[in-house]
Amino acid sequence: MLDLIIIGGGPIGLTCGLAAQKAGLSFVILEKGTLVNSLYNYPSTMTFFSTSEKLEIGGYPFATTHVKPNRADALEYYRRVALNNELPLNLFEEVTAVTQEDAIYTVSTKKATYAGKHIIIATGFYDISVNLDIPGEDLPKVKHYYQDPHFFTLQKVVVVGASNSSVDVALETYRKGAQVTMVVRGSEVNSRVKYWVRPDIMNRIEEGSIKAYFNSNLKAIRENDVDIETPEGLITIANDYVMAMTGYKPNFDFLKRVGIRLSEDGRFIPKYNPETMETNLPGVYLAGVVCGGMDTHLWFIENSRVHAEMILADIMRRKQVTY
Ligand code: FAD
Repeated sequence: MLDLIIIGGGPIGLTCGLAAQKAGLSFVILEKGTLVNSLYNYPSTMTFFSTSEKLEIGGYPFATTHVKPNRADALEYYRRVALNNELPLNLFEEVTAVTQEDAIYTVSTKKATYAGKHIIIATGFYDISVNLDIPGEDLPKVKHYYQDPHFFTLQKVVVVGASNSSVDVALETYRKGAQVTMVVRGSEVNSRVKYWVRPDIMNRIEEGSIKAYFNSNLKAIRENDVDIETPEGLITIANDYVMAMTGYKPNFDFLKRVGIRLSEDGRFIPKYNPETMETNLPGVYLAGVVCGGMDTHLWFIENSRVHAEMILADIMRRKQVTY
């Protein structure tokens, strides 16, 4: 019988683990992939928009020689914090079900079952892509995740979207010799694109190095070409790869199966008390970016690492111990 079971070994699951350790609770962190699995799957070239001190957890300094850490820096930092503190981590162990009986939760994974008095769900949003739902999306040349630009040298690449991820893919593949076309639903590059990157993409579009169709939608994908609906009508262009950087979403099926209520306005925002992070299920909390539902831009490491302290304060209040 554990005091706490934390589902998800991302930065926020680890922050919850550090807070639980400090509070003297018995707990385990169950992670379906490797340590900080989402960060591990980010593009190899990725640079955080946050400065390193805003990504720190448990009060451990995140020292970098450059202002904005990159993926490799972050993997190094979170691994060192987790291992140095000997956090109880069970990796490559996906949680498949959470059930409750008499105020005790049973958490099932593919390897074991665990009993706990409290649960924190910190499962993030990076495992499920938002799809285009157009013909040809299932072709192997269509990718929702991007690792490295070198692969796309001399290829005709369509990038869908104009968010941070789309813009990074467009600029990086262009600079490795790809012929890049952006298909953008809105009328301009997203205003949330990193402030030091936005002028770069605007200038590349303006000079014609990267072709962009605004107010446009990708309509169909075939082996050698794609259809784009533009304000001037439907066009077909030759194509080798489609980078559908249309975002990601939390695993709503999992949340529903656990019994967490989601908003019915199409945003699927989970129900929780903003002061304690407790959900509609007593003793079950949400932490990190999973809290945003479809509004995945609302939460990040910077502003959600505080969830750990809020949750642990509530758990300890229930145990009537001062935290
Ligand atoms: P995650 O890191 O996604 O961790 C969730 C973990 O839960 C994963 O490891 C996953 O494998 C695991 N998991 C999921 N389901 C299960 C299951 N059923 N059983 C067991 N384990 C499970 N934020 C910032 O503050 N600054 C930035 O600069 C920044 N840059 C970003 C760049 C990109 C490309 C993206 C996608 C996001 C960025 N974010 C940034 C946003 C956010 O901070 C990150 O998404 C961060 O990883 C969120 O941490 P988390 O712990 O909440 O979720």
